[in-house]
Amino acid sequence: DMEVAIKVVVVGNGAVGKSSMIQRYCKGIFTKDYKKTIGVDFLERQILVNDEDVRLMLWDTAGQEEFDAITKAYYRGAQACVLVFSTTDRDSFEAISSWWDKVEVEVGNIPIVLVQNKIDLLDETVIKNEEAEGLAKKLKLRFYRTSVKEDLNVNEVFKYLADKYLQR
Ligand code: GDP
Ligand code: MG
Repeated sequence: DMEVAIKVVVVGNGAVGKSSMIQRYCKGIFTKDYKKTIGVDFLERQILVNDEDVRLMLWDTAGQEEFDAITKAYYRGAQACVLVFSTTDRDSFEAISSWWDKVEVEVGNIPIVLVQNKIDLLDETVIKNEEAEGLAKKLKLRFYRTSVKEDLNVNEVFKYLADKYLQR
């Protein structure tokens, strides 16, 4: 069997939990002040999907998202994408459509999933459920609510993308 490797880009405003999600999924840990290790472009994890070995390479940004300066190299060859916003950050939710546009322009039609992270902070939410679900519907995306902190639904996000990629 040929091993399948999938480049996954994790996109969204700063501080929504992208680096934490990658670290959680690939290393099984959560820290309050994760800083991307200089020189490391991605972390990876191998999973089994329908008896096939799939290697997921999760690419992190070096925090340039604040400056809208994510380079073409980041998107190049991406085969799946996680679009992330935070439960406690209205701007991050409103930026999703433009992140989606950017992914479409850079890599075209690839499997994409919409993620509302920090669901452990639901008491402080600034986004109504209907709004988030409405956006997912409008963009025709599968929608997950996650807590990277409490390890809720993180595995499901990547399992879904791997499945979707293999079905193409
Ligand atoms: P990035 O800029 O999108 O890469 O975000 P980071 O991964 O650096 O996370 C920003 C902050 O949010 C950090 O302090 C994380 O510890 C925190 N964080 C990430 N995920 C969660 C979560 O699910 N719940 C809570 N409460 N905090 C989180
Ligand atoms: Mg980061």
